[in-house]
Amino acid sequence: MIKQDIINTVQTYEEAFDWGQKYLVHYGIENSYMEAFWLLTAYRSGRNDIHSFNDLILHREKAMTIDHRDVYHRMIRERARRRPLAYILGYQEFMGMKFYVNRDVLIPRQETELLVEAATRKFNVLDKLKILDIGAGSGNIGISLAAHFPMAYVVATDISERALLVAQSNADYLQKSGQMTFWREDLIFAMDFNEKGAQNSDRNRNLLWNSFDVIVSNPPYIQSREIDSLQEEVQSEPRIALDGGPDGLRMIRRIVCEGPKFLKRGGWLFLEIGHDQGNQVYELMQKAQFNSIEIRKDYAHLDRIAIGKNG
Ligand code: GLN
Repeated sequence: MIKQDIINTVQTYEEAFDWGQKYLVHYGIENSYMEAFWLLTAYRSGRNDIHSFNDLILHREKAMTIDHRDVYHRMIRERARRRPLAYILGYQEFMGMKFYVNRDVLIPRQETELLVEAATRKFNVLDKLKILDIGAGSGNIGISLAAHFPMAYVVATDISERALLVAQSNADYLQKSGQMTFWREDLIFAMDFNEKGAQNSDRNRNLLWNSFDVIVSNPPYIQSREIDSLQEEVQSEPRIALDGGPDGLRMIRRIVCEGPKFLKRGGWLFLEIGHDQGNQVYELMQKAQFNSIEIRKDYAHLDRIAIGKNG
């Protein structure tokens, strides 16, 4: 049995690491060794000596400061309560960059790198692309594309104001703001433009018709009834970023149907999809007159990416 107050007897980095790891194992955290290490490095202070495994070996017998010990203790306990590691650390790596994350955004996933890579392979690095990232969340997709294509311009939308704040601060931090605009929109803005008319004319949205070379999105695609049975960690992510309605396809359907209006002729749609949605999305894209449609698989050989060319 792990006593919660055992940390009070911990003095050195090595003892802390050992305690943290055992604590996480006790609470069933799978990757306890690495996670305890990351959490040990996470204390942002000049008085934290541990930034790498080498540091841990070098300083293993050194005493930690009380402050560091307290912060580490708190983080380990949060993790044992299944708070996602990325929310505790405050960042997630994606395409080799660090993205700040909090509870307002989905934590970027490794599979989504396949979506970004699919888009980067279709064009030349210096192409002046106009890219629309729908449901930007932390901004990981749009910012990665802005980084890959220095001449590209990215419009990133999200329905959540708070998510957009995160995306914007990531764009600032990663110095991509100059290539990007952030709009608070319900999926695809000009659909609303059409209905509401001049209301949104300040942004000249009518100029957006048929103007994008690329639409990219990792929309919510999980069936509503499945969400409650997902891992506890996933449940602390924003539901709105996960819930794709009764059949999981609500947002995908809208993007596929409305997307062609915003794409240039010959423009491309890149979508992340659920592991069992390949056939349905293929059909939806066919109906919407996409060409060169492809469904690609992820590392686990499950359907994950849908690609199609407009017209
Ligand atoms: N674009 C973000 C990501 O891929 C957020 C997606 C979402 O909120 N569904 O992680």
